[in-house]
Amino acid sequence: MKWETVIGLEVHAELSTKSKIFCGCTTSYGGDPNTHVCPVCAGMPGVLPVLNREVVEYAIRLGLALNCEITRRCKFDRKNYFYPDLPKAYQVSQLYSPICCDGYLEIDVSGNKKKIRIREIHMEEDAGKLNHSSQGSLMDFNRCGVPLLEIVTQPDFASAAEVNAYLEKLRETLLYLDICDCKMQEGSMRADINLSLRIPGGEYGVRTETKNMNSFKAIGRAIEYEIDRQADILDDGGKIVQETRRWDDEKGTSSGMRSKENAQDYRYFPEPDLLPINIDDEWIARIKENLPELASQKRERYMRDYNISADEAGVLTCHKNISGLFETLARKSEAASSANAAVSANAASSANAALSANAAVSANATVSANAAVEAAHLISGEIMRLMNNANILPEDLNIDADKLVTLIGFVISGKINRASFKETVEAVFTNNVDPKSYIVEKGLMMVSDDKAVTQAAEKVMAANQSTVAEYRAGKKKVFGFLMGMVMKELGKGGNPELVKKVLQDMLNGEK
Ligand code: ADP
Ligand code: MG
Ligand code: ZN
Repeated sequence: MKWETVIGLEVHAELSTKSKIFCGCTTSYGGDPNTHVCPVCAGMPGVLPVLNREVVEYAIRLGLALNCEITRRCKFDRKNYFYPDLPKAYQVSQLYSPICCDGYLEIDVSGNKKKIRIREIHMEEDAGKLNHSSQGSLMDFNRCGVPLLEIVTQPDFASAAEVNAYLEKLRETLLYLDICDCKMQEGSMRADINLSLRIPGGEYGVRTETKNMNSFKAIGRAIEYEIDRQADILDDGGKIVQETRRWDDEKGTSSGMRSKENAQDYRYFPEPDLLPINIDDEWIARIKENLPELASQKRERYMRDYNISADEAGVLTCHKNISGLFETLARKSEAASSANAAVSANAASSANAALSANAAVSANATVSANAAVEAAHLISGEIMRLMNNANILPEDLNIDADKLVTLIGFVISGKINRASFKETVEAVFTNNVDPKSYIVEKGLMMVSDDKAVTQAAEKVMAANQSTVAEYRAGKKKVFGFLMGMVMKELGKGGNPELVKKVLQDMLNGEK
């Protein structure tokens, strides 16, 4: 391709504050039309807005997480336009002194790191919604006045892959900061794509702005479509028209909506009904102190503390709910297993020889670290697989952490084997069973009784004398077969380590 792609993004994030930006109405999604409204957000004449302090806090939180300068005296402006979903005929927004400026977010596209510059973040209010039908269009003002942050980047993206990496990371940041639920389907996170082509390294070309994508996938497709469309025009010697385009995901095409307006078209002026906001060092310092740990920090900590791979740490931090579950499991399993280890160390001294050997293993000091690693593997493997199969999103995951802690304890202390562990985890996931009763009912408790294992081994050896002879003649690889037979004999509760040890001893003639 002889053209270089240039993309800048404007992302709108609806904030999850309890109430709207300038009144006490709820921000909750849905509800019957016009039930979440009052005279202020319905734009009645003569009312006055009162700024929701929490909106400012949320904006500062994001600004700090995106390495921005925080504007110490920031102001609101009116953006004037007429549209039926905007009852006041202006939107309160920020043009001249947005709350955050000049930050960046670092992205990683297959190992290539790149800083995407954030030009500004500004606070504004959302508009309502029009419901169109054959009878006409009805207005629903529930969304009017829901607080938004608009995050504007510099034109720093060169591909759809970079845009995707940025959006994923921004979404993750918004979720971890707990300021937006980022449901693209419900419109709580929306991205507009500004795209132009240029001769590599040359002057910026004329751009278009594409709107109305409601998934990451749609954004990728809309970018590819727009690159092709502009390249065709430019290849033919044509000119790009600066315009706003609407993406149609079903058709996989976009069409021109309106020619792009300039700031002048909106007759912006300072909002006279709201005072400037003074943000002092103390306020910023307090917010900084209470900033939650972000996903990238968690990833590094998990890798360092539990010695797990970058990939696994990535899975564990793919969503706040997942890392939250992991941290709960790690904490509780560590506590439970170090308590158990102490108990079994005591028990060991009075038990018989074979058992005390096992107990000594589980009393090992590494047990509690193992519990966290076990929890990591459980979530990144089994739980993610079950979620995928059942089409459950991380935000909807609801599983009893204490039951998983119990199971992790069982597998680590050798009460159940791996296969039974997996089976019981699945039963907890799908039917929320009580793990202990399930294990007892299904006979999954591991047989750690020396005698039972010896009996099973004797039976198998008697029934497979020629194989036993082969083994004793030096054909060691038949061991797996014999071991499998003994495990089968013992049912789901077979303890592989114990079986291996007992069977080996017997075959080698030590028993
Ligand atoms: P407007 O005032 O029309 O909203 P802005 O200057 O605010 O325009 O830019 C909006 C977005 O468009 C920003 O994300 C910016 O990075 C991006 N942008 C600006 N110029 C270009 C260009 N030539 N090609 C692609 N994106 C651009
Ligand atoms: Mg703009
Ligand atoms: Zn209201």
